Amino acid sequence: MKINQIYQLFLKSSGVCTDTRSLKKDNLFFALKGTNFNGNEYASQALKKGAAYAIVDEKKYDESERHIFVNDALSALQELASYHRKQLGIPIVALTGSNGKTTTKELINCVLSTKFNTVATKGNLNNHIGVPLTLLSMSEHTQMGIIEMGANHIKEIAFLSDITNPDYGYITNIGKAHLEGFGGIEGVLKGKTELYEHLRKNNNLIFLNAEDQKLSKAAAAIKKYTFSQKDESDVTIKLLKSNPMVSVLYKNKIIESNLIGSYNFTNVAAAIAIGNYFKIEEKNIKTAIESYIPENNRSQIINKNQYTIILDAYNANPSSISVALDNFEQQQYDSKTVFLGDMFELGHESEKEHQKIVDQALSLSFDTIYLIGHNFYATKSDDARIKKFNSYEGLANHWSPQTEKQAIFIKGSRGMKLERILELL
Ligand code: ATP
Ligand code: MG
Repeated sequence: MKINQIYQLFLKSSGVCTDTRSLKKDNLFFALKGTNFNGNEYASQALKKGAAYAIVDEKKYDESERHIFVNDALSALQELASYHRKQLGIPIVALTGSNGKTTTKELINCVLSTKFNTVATKGNLNNHIGVPLTLLSMSEHTQMGIIEMGANHIKEIAFLSDITNPDYGYITNIGKAHLEGFGGIEGVLKGKTELYEHLRKNNNLIFLNAEDQKLSKAAAAIKKYTFSQKDESDVTIKLLKSNPMVSVLYKNKIIESNLIGSYNFTNVAAAIAIGNYFKIEEKNIKTAIESYIPENNRSQIINKNQYTIILDAYNANPSSISVALDNFEQQQYDSKTVFLGDMFELGHESEKEHQKIVDQALSLSFDTIYLIGHNFYATKSDDARIKKFNSYEGLANHWSPQTEKQAIFIKGSRGMKLERILELL
């Protein structure tokens, strides 16, 4: 069946679904394949549960007139999203970058939704499935879209940009994340700036942190709207403090975010700049930024027993750990302990990058540095402040209750699940 025909079914449906567990009546079910499942096997079940049609890509599952056979269900989903996006004709802001995408996306959505009916990526659904699903969740009532795009290899952002066809773009930063898939930091720059390339071809606009030299260079030949702490940018936003939360000055207004760490300054500033570009009233920008509270173990402050805990266990890579350590060092606490978990997806740079983080941590004024995971375990140091464990279980088995008041910082890759440390404290 052709995409424009599937589109007619989509318009009459109650939306798209790829998982029978969250299926709603009259959904269009797409039978996607994962490593452990084949959606085709669930197509009939989806129809029994009330789906209007099921899009399948294996002939033997094309069992009734409500089964629609296509060559590839994932491609059909992506093509449908792209087709729908063209019909919508609304402005879309797309963002990517190594760190801070979700935080910035949420902040932008808080700001823009004070004036427009927005649809933004839910949570972290930022890949080749999440992006199409987000686009397909937009309707004729949507006035503006905010799409997060994630990538761990080259050409991925180009592909997501083709589907999304954004009018505006923002790259948060270029850092040492997913080095394995991108083949090093130059690969990260090339991969992320595929968004710039897409916008440049269509003479569209990017938002740019003018203080980011790598990105400024990459953005040289593109239409842009800039922000920075300096007056020569299109909009000036100044960092007032980041101890512990980021506060900024924007047009004589102090905006106090609930985000920890100076590294969150650019995330906040980007959302303000984008709000300013779309002529959102200053007081609404202020309220929007101040209302946003991070979730999901992203830089949260938790007070528990004698501990003040900065829980940043959502994820980690060399760039984000490095700025977070510097930030923790600058916080005014008497006693500081850090728990660092392995960083994944670093390929052949893994050993070097773990060692660099250990060296950096040792150069700062932390009292104790717990290292957790095989990669950190393999690092070298004879400093007595370091305590190494091969796994979380190793740490838990050796943990003895402590009594002194201290500030604790926790960060590691998602797979390390370092939020479990809370149970020990
Ligand atoms: P993902 O790749 O999982 O989608 P993301 O880019 O969406 O991640 P966030 O979820 O917003 O990023 O933030 C994850 C973590 O990255 C935060 O908890 C924080 O430690 C760190 N971080 C956020 N913003 C920045 C930034 N501007 N620079 C460096 N690190 C940051
Ligand atoms: Mg994200």
